[in-house]
Amino acid sequence: MIEKNELLAKLPKVRGEYKFAEPLSKYVWLKVGGPADVMYFPEDKEDLQSFLQNKPAGLSVFTLGAGSNLLVRDGGIGGMVIKLQNDNFKNVRIENDTIYCGAGLLNSALKKTVIENSLGGLEFLCSIPGSLGGMLRSNAGCFGSDLSTVFKKATVINGKGDIFEADLKDFNFGYRHSDFPADWIVLEVCLKFEKKDPKVVREQIQANDEYRQKYQPQGIRTAGSTFKNPEGYRAWELIKNSGGADMVVGGAKMSDMHCNFLQVSDTATAADVEKLGHNIIAAVKEKTGVDLKWEIKIIGRE
Ligand SMILES: Cc1cc2nc3c(=O)[nH]c(=O)nc-3n(C[C@H](O)[C@H](O)[C@H](O)COP(=O)(O)OP(=O)(O)OC[C@H]3O[C@@H](n4cnc5c(N)ncnc54)[C@H](O)[C@@H]3O)c2cc1C
Repeated sequence: MIEKNELLAKLPKVRGEYKFAEPLSKYVWLKVGGPADVMYFPEDKEDLQSFLQNKPAGLSVFTLGAGSNLLVRDGGIGGMVIKLQNDNFKNVRIENDTIYCGAGLLNSALKKTVIENSLGGLEFLCSIPGSLGGMLRSNAGCFGSDLSTVFKKATVINGKGDIFEADLKDFNFGYRHSDFPADWIVLEVCLKFEKKDPKVVREQIQANDEYRQKYQPQGIRTAGSTFKNPEGYRAWELIKNSGGADMVVGGAKMSDMHCNFLQVSDTATAADVEKLGHNIIAAVKEKTGVDLKWEIKIIGRE
């Protein structure tokens, strides 16, 4: 853990806010995990740019979205965690067949815009929790589509503070995957849509929400699908058939409703969650020979 005073002396002056030893459990859906040495909430993109241009050499930087796909270990994250929380990172602009979304925009706000403006083709994205920056990084998807199918381009900033546009060829999107340089931070995501009958858009969004309510657990501490579906298999079936659905480690178990969704209790630690995941991976490998891969991103110190 880098001490507050040591860090303060080195960090550049910003218009946004620094928070030291900030518990990350407050910012992630699983609500477990240790603190960030320091968190930075930039005021706007110029503030972020100035920070990146003047940050101390060797300071590691991690960008946190809405924390819906993350397991932060109990030791927290060394260095800096940046969160684009300010409204200046949540702007929305619609031009012709294109919507420009600030990277900090949440899916709930996207849903409102999609419904109000009848933006067809984006209905699936509205049901995935998270921010637009996180959705791009993870190539989030559901109902047979993923972000890459509606993606046009993005504005990003690199670790040196250079701002530029990146397009499809820069990301090499795959299943829940994008090739994404570690020092890039998404500032804006630009998506295409097709104007549709408002009723059709609203009904599609409602049908997607109803599907989730029927088949996926609601109101629990989870991070969505724990493991990716291996080619030709469904992760939940592999877990069920290998006994993983009944495994418990401390305060972590798999949901009774959907055994590829983790469920953690108030007593859970990040170590419980990671150990449970490893036990399930081992059980599936032993029973079926298939390698399960985490869909949740695990970060931080043990
Ligand atoms: C109940 C539930 C259901 C879910 N259902 C689905 C689903 O159907 N499909 C699906 O794909 N996912 C699903 N997820 C997982 C999650 O919602 C997605 O992966 C989402 O895109 C993550 O966005 P986030 O903002 O929360 O990112 P985070 O979890 O905060 O971060 C994820 C990754 O994105 C990076 N990141 C975040 N913001 C930026 C940025 N501005 N610039 C650069 N990198 C950034 C982080 O560094 C990290 O590597 C579900 C999760 C939950 C809790």
